[in-house]
Amino acid sequence: RTVLRELTKIEDSEIILADPMPIMDPTVYHKRYLKEMRGLGAGHFGTVTLYLYDPFNDGTGEFVAVKALKQDGGHVPDGWVKEIETLKSLSHSNIVKYKGCCTELGGQMVQLVMEYVPMGSLHKYVYECKPSMPKCLLFAQQICQGMEYLHSERYIHRDLAARNVLVENDNLVKIGDFGLSKYIPEGEAYYRVREDGDSPVYWYAIECLKEAKFSFNSDIWSFGVTLYEILTRCDPRESPPCKFNDMKGPDHLSLTVMVLIQMLERRMRLPCPRDCPHEVKIIMNQCWATNPLDRPQFSSLVQRFEDIRK
Ligand code: ADP
Ligand code: MG
Repeated sequence: RTVLRELTKIEDSEIILADPMPIMDPTVYHKRYLKEMRGLGAGHFGTVTLYLYDPFNDGTGEFVAVKALKQDGGHVPDGWVKEIETLKSLSHSNIVKYKGCCTELGGQMVQLVMEYVPMGSLHKYVYECKPSMPKCLLFAQQICQGMEYLHSERYIHRDLAARNVLVENDNLVKIGDFGLSKYIPEGEAYYRVREDGDSPVYWYAIECLKEAKFSFNSDIWSFGVTLYEILTRCDPRESPPCKFNDMKGPDHLSLTVMVLIQMLERRMRLPCPRDCPHEVKIIMNQCWATNPLDRPQFSSLVQRFEDIRK
């Protein structure tokens, strides 16, 4: 009891005596300490740049990837702030780590600070390095692990594709680009959206194309397409847009979303990649089941990839 009182006393006196300390928030990155290194890539929503964050200017800093919203008008749309909030609450070895944000111009522009994932997108990696089948299956399993976690936190990704998975090293991939992910309130089976513009339609499940119904089960469909991309080593001649275009036949001049829906309704699917193990082909086709409820869950796929890789 006396000890406690002593402590309280010391604390009291400290509050009076201590110099006022500036509040240092480790998740706020100051623009003036960010040294631009090089561009890392650009996607639908933003450009990503590599910076060295070195507040002491003595080379002890860290590399970070900063995603800036493509500037149009200068105001910060709701979706952007949401993307930061989404990443903030997530922590998993197969999910890109959110580190904070960088505000400037009195909050007019927001930039998202992420961990730097040195080997870039899985799309580029798989195309350039042509990993072996066991390596491809390891990546597939890790994507399932990251997605299982994301779903357990009740988030859907909505834009799962090889271009949105990042490579840490030859044995580790991380899911990135949560720009389209939306929080699913408990008890709500799906989330409806209406979005114009060019969406990644070839990765979308049939119900997303028909009714803009995104759900945990539509993420699984997109995973099937991502798995297809990995196994075709992202060969541009076998890309989902290319293949669906080949499959549409001469009846249709151009491949519209309407035509794509018709093809999927006739149960046409991407072909089995060369050298694809039978069990993996089965997984892929289950991911593309017309009825969302017939598709597997990420938790079961983790185990199945584990077994196939044995
Ligand atoms: P968008 O929302 O605009 O599609 P992404 O998050 O997909 O943006 O990023 C676009 C590209 O930038 C990726 O395909 C990848 O090549 C690169 N990139 C994104 N985040 C990182 C990161 N943390 N580390 C390294 N490269 C990254
Ligand atoms: Mg992207």
